Amino acid sequence: MRTQRPDIPEDGNPRRQFLKGCAAAGAAVAAGAVSTTAEARETYQRPPEALGLLYDATLCIGCKACVAACKRANDNPAEFSTADKLWDTPLDTSGYTFNIIKMYRSGTMTTKDDETNGYAFMKTSCMHCADPSCVSACPVTAMVKDPTTGIVAYDPQACVGCRYCVVACPFGIPKYQYDSPTGKIGKCELCRHRHKDGHYSACAEVCPTGATLYGRTSDLLSEAKRRLALQPGSVTTYPRGNLSGGADQSYEGYVGNYKQHVYGETEYGGTQVLKLSAVDFEKVGMPYLSPKSSASTSETIQHTLYGGLLMPFAVLGAMTYVAKRNVHHEDDAPADEPGKE
Ligand code: SF4
Ligand code: SF4
Ligand code: SF4
Repeated sequence: MRTQRPDIPEDGNPRRQFLKGCAAAGAAVAAGAVSTTAEARETYQRPPEALGLLYDATLCIGCKACVAACKRANDNPAEFSTADKLWDTPLDTSGYTFNIIKMYRSGTMTTKDDETNGYAFMKTSCMHCADPSCVSACPVTAMVKDPTTGIVAYDPQACVGCRYCVVACPFGIPKYQYDSPTGKIGKCELCRHRHKDGHYSACAEVCPTGATLYGRTSDLLSEAKRRLALQPGSVTTYPRGNLSGGADQSYEGYVGNYKQHVYGETEYGGTQVLKLSAVDFEKVGMPYLSPKSSASTSETIQHTLYGGLLMPFAVLGAMTYVAKRNVHHEDDAPADEPGKE
C-alpha cells in the first residue's frame, strides 16, 4: 500500500506547496524589511520661487476664455461633444485639452456659489504639486519638476508611453493621446514655452475677472489669505494677470462667501496652483488629500525593498530554502514506493 510521505501535506501537491511557500516567505521578508528599515522620506516642499496660479471660483463667470486661450497657446485642436461640431466643446481634460472649467449644479441652480439650489465653477488643470507623483512614477524622467520654478514639465522625446504618470496623479491630470500612433501625454506646463517671450500663463493673461491669477505661489498664497480675512459682501480690489509682475490691472469687486480654506496650501504636500471656493471643495470635484504626498511613501517602500538589492536577495533566499525543503533524493524515498525496497 502507498503511504503518504511525511513531508508532503495530504491536502496539496509539492508544486503548489512550493509556490505557497515562496509567496509566504517573500511576503514575510518584505514585510519585515519595511517594518524594520523603512523611514518615510520627507514630503518635498515647493521651491521658494515656485510659480503657479490662484483660481478664485467666486470671481469666475464661466466664460471659458481661459479654455480657448490654453488651446491656442498649446496649439491644440478643437474637440467636439455636439453633433454640429461648431465649437470646441471638450467635456474633460484630454491629451489635447489641458484646462477646463467644470460646473457644479444643485437643484434650481438659482444662485451662484450656493451649495443648495445654486451653481459654481471650478478650473481643472495640472496643480504642479510640490512633490508630484507623476514625476516619481515616471521610469524615464519624461516628467521633471524644475528646481527653480517648480513647474512640472513633460519631455515627449524621453516618454516611452507607459502611462504610469496617468495612473499616479491623484487629480487625474495627465492624459494620453490614444488616437495617435505616436501618442504623447498632454497636460498643462504653466505655459513655460511662452515665458521667454515675456508672456505668462495664457489662461491668466486672458481671464477678464482675475479669477485665474498668475504669479509666485508665495505671493498667490498671501493674496488668497488676504481674501479669506475679508468680510463677505464688502468691497475689495482684485488684481488681474500677473500678481508678481505688478498685476496688469485691478478692479473693485464684492468679497465672496469663501470656505475658509486655501485648497493646495497643504493638500498632497502642497501644490503651486491654489484655489478658493464658496462651495465645498469635494463637491466641486477637488479630492480630499492628506498633507503627505504619496510619492514620499511609495519611494520609501521602493528604496527600502530594492536598496542594496535587499528584496531580490531576500526573495531568492526564500525560494532556495523552500525549494531545498521540497527536493528529495532517492535515498529519502519511502520504503513502499514502487520499485523500491
Ligand atoms: S497634478 Fe498630477 S500631473 Fe500635475 S504635477 Fe501633480 S501629480 Fe503631476
Ligand atoms: S498655464 Fe497655460 S497650459 Fe496651463 S492651463 Fe493655463 S493656459 Fe493652459
Ligand atoms: S477666463 Fe476666467 S472667468 Fe472665464 S472661465 Fe476662465 S477662469 Fe473663469
